[in-house]
Amino acid sequence: MTKFSDFALAEPIKKRVIESGYTTPSPIQQQAIPPALEGKDILGIAQTGTGKTAAFSLPAIHHLLANKRRPGRNECRMLVLAPTRELARQIADSMTGYSKGLGMYVTSAFGGVPINRQKRILAKGVDVLVATPGRLLDLIDQRCLTLEKVEILVLDEADQMLDLGFIVPLKKIVPMLPKKRQSLFFSATMPKTISQLADQFLTNPVQVSVAPQSTTAERVDQKVTYINQDDKQRLLKDFINKENPDHMLVFTQTKHGADKVVKNLNAVGIHSAAIHGNKSQPQRERALGDFKKGKINILVATDIAARGIDVDGITHVINFDMPNVSEQYVHRIGRTARAGASGISYSLVAPDERQFLRDVVKLTGVKPEVIALPEGYDEPPREEVAPRIYGQKPKRYGAKPTGGRNNKHSARKGRPGGGNRRGGPGSGERTGGPKKGGPKHWNNASKSFKRRQKSKSDA
Ligand code: AMP
Repeated sequence: MTKFSDFALAEPIKKRVIESGYTTPSPIQQQAIPPALEGKDILGIAQTGTGKTAAFSLPAIHHLLANKRRPGRNECRMLVLAPTRELARQIADSMTGYSKGLGMYVTSAFGGVPINRQKRILAKGVDVLVATPGRLLDLIDQRCLTLEKVEILVLDEADQMLDLGFIVPLKKIVPMLPKKRQSLFFSATMPKTISQLADQFLTNPVQVSVAPQSTTAERVDQKVTYINQDDKQRLLKDFINKENPDHMLVFTQTKHGADKVVKNLNAVGIHSAAIHGNKSQPQRERALGDFKKGKINILVATDIAARGIDVDGITHVINFDMPNVSEQYVHRIGRTARAGASGISYSLVAPDERQFLRDVVKLTGVKPEVIALPEGYDEPPREEVAPRIYGQKPKRYGAKPTGGRNNKHSARKGRPGGGNRRGGPGSGERTGGPKKGGPKHWNNASKSFKRRQKSKSDA
């Protein structure tokens, strides 16, 4: 097994790694660090939690140190592009740590905060800039930044960039970069659009890949319950009371949905906070800080906001709403299986979300355990219901087809048939039915739960 000491990294960097508490390089680090140190371009398929930040940061810091020069005004020597402000901040924090005491200036630039401070910092020139694409273009437009002297480019979480509609800004950014540079490109998944984007960024890349999506899925103890949409709030509350989670992340499909969950939980004395795009940066930071410190045990998030959350030790991931893109499910449950840990995921699947679950099973090859509804809940109808498109009422199969152009994911990915990614009525195998021997009740022994069963008032 390779050790950090085996890498041709400068000694002070190795020292910083040891001080960070790392003993063994993670698989992505083992694969990516040697070719990156040789100056090669890298195409990395790896999810958050695999140690990819160090995989690209350590060799980059090595190169920056080896050819040390003062960056000119409004210049950066290394540019890291990240899809969200949380991730940008997290990468900048990690890189600051890895380069501590080495005389390097690392900064971040993202939207949602005043631009002036970022302009002032960039005016002096920085070694490393970690930025989201939108704010980066603003800074360039305002002539506060030039990319002409970038030596190393990192594009992180490219698939999320695609989901967030950053492809156009990225295509604008590429021609501003010098042709002679090292590029490191990371994505958790590699659909065709992403590999085409990678072609634009990279020259003869070395491909490295770890943690295929099923690995996370296998590590996480996945459970589902089939339930009516209107009963989800009550079941969530009961589940929280029973499990008493330390660090639970609840995913909703919409910002409004996240706020509603928080409101309902707080109303029954379960303290939680929401983190999503409508929250201001200080609000997000406060919520995240309270969650990290354990002041609140439950954070309710949309997919986009949750992407950059770097909290080790998340014990539970709840899919209050099923994601309508299967890869997103893997990202979500991966939050509870960071750095080799395992955790629990629990999906509340409404009748119109069953197809989403089938898609997930197809992608991961893992069937979640079905937990039967506790007593006192109405069984959901078993017949197929067409997937809900948020903002529209669910429709039954056999009625007018749904999906189509209103499904932003499908439409964007240019799926045939007007963008409906589902196979249509009755498509796909039925999965996730109760296992042999009958489903398990998670609440069987819980007295408090049974008490609450009687009280429907807080549903
Ligand atoms: P990342 O995938 O870069 O977000 O890293 C996930 C987590 O793993 C972070 O908390 C890192 O500090 C940690 N980490 C990265 N590399 C190692 C390593 N070689 N040994 C132990 N922890 C690591």
